[in-house]
Amino acid sequence: MIYIVNVSGGLASFEALRRTIERYGVGNTVAVFADTLIEDPDLYRFLDDTERVLGVPITRLQDGRTPFEVWKQRRLIARIIRGNRVAKCSLELKRGVIDAWVAEHYPDGGYTLVFGYTWDEPHRMEKIAHRLAPVPTWFPLSEPPYLDKCGIAAIAQGLGIASPRLYEMGFSHNNCGGGCVWGGQAHWAHVHRVLPDVYARWERAEQDYREATGKDHSILQKYTLHEYRTLVLEVQGEFDTDEWGGCGCFSSAYEGDPS
Ligand code: SF4
Repeated sequence: MIYIVNVSGGLASFEALRRTIERYGVGNTVAVFADTLIEDPDLYRFLDDTERVLGVPITRLQDGRTPFEVWKQRRLIARIIRGNRVAKCSLELKRGVIDAWVAEHYPDGGYTLVFGYTWDEPHRMEKIAHRLAPVPTWFPLSEPPYLDKCGIAAIAQGLGIASPRLYEMGFSHNNCGGGCVWGGQAHWAHVHRVLPDVYARWERAEQDYREATGKDHSILQKYTLHEYRTLVLEVQGEFDTDEWGGCGCFSSAYEGDPS
């Protein structure tokens, strides 16, 4: 049995990879990463360090499109449909790319898919296991020792690997350079404060999507990113500090409607 680990460039999938190697050995472990092409530059340093320290090559895949291009092509940014979070960017640039690679390299099966969901996400694990059956799945972080991101960061640090810088900057994930279609007001206020260039890029991309499609879609429910910056963040400065949203890139790709 081969264990294929979906490596996102974040701490949780790092620990999932480390535990897979610890239990099943490097020879039975395959690590794959799907690049959205708008990643934070330090993500690649973290992948390089992970390869070097854990001794496993990370196969780097890419579709060739960015999430911004996928939005326009699919005429959708993200939406909740029948209780499932649907974002074509994660579906096509993450799940689609990795699924195609696995199908090409392991046409006869014989593998388990490994995910870095943390122990406090049992509902997500159940959904993914159900959706992927009969392909076996494994969630190493659902087993003791139960660690949060700080605990995993300490393990990485102990191995000589610095955490991806986005965590140090207050982000909860290391996807898409700090942005995400599932981010809420507090998340985007944080992006605006600590990564203004990233905010500006996403603001332009959202505007470009709206002009290209003519659709009144936006990442935030109440505002476009342009309105949010110019009417809220740079003026009154008051926003919903509880509305962080959540990245959920893999959850939307693997739990959501795969159509
Ligand atoms: S991190 Fe968010 S924006 Fe990026 S691909 Fe995943 S769901 Fe889409």
